[in-house]
Amino acid sequence: MSEQPTEFNVWARPKDGSLARAVQWTREKWKLSLADAMSRVLHSRETGWVLIHERCGWLDVPGLVKSLPDFVEPGSAAVTEYELGYSPAGCNAYCATHGLHYLRGSRSSETPCPVCAGWYIDSVQNGMAIRLTRHDGDNGDA
Ligand SMILES: [Zn+2]
Repeated sequence: MSEQPTEFNVWARPKDGSLARAVQWTREKWKLSLADAMSRVLHSRETGWVLIHERCGWLDVPGLVKSLPDFVEPGSAAVTEYELGYSPAGCNAYCATHGLHYLRGSRSSETPCPVCAGWYIDSVQNGMAIRLTRHDGDNGDA
């Protein structure tokens, strides 16, 4: 396969009335200017999703979805494949087995989710993507 193994993004739903807190958090998290943080948060209001973690490994996800910031709805986390840059609302496929939103469009309509396909990054440590095992199609990573 020519594509890189998939990394993952974690999103959540912002609470009503959380705008100021969301901007503050977004600014600190992504080291943005106030204007850029405002722009990102306002965009997340339109889609209904705010980006919480970017470029995570699959094994990192369970811990990350449990530690959400205080301006999002508890338990509202959703996971997408990173490469797309789409929020869960922008994906057109969902794997119930893995709770993963992904995109089928440009590929075959039969495209399995990256975790089902075994083509993903296990963990990202200090910006280094780690594949601990080869799990191409073995489904043995539950
Ligand atoms: Zn799957």
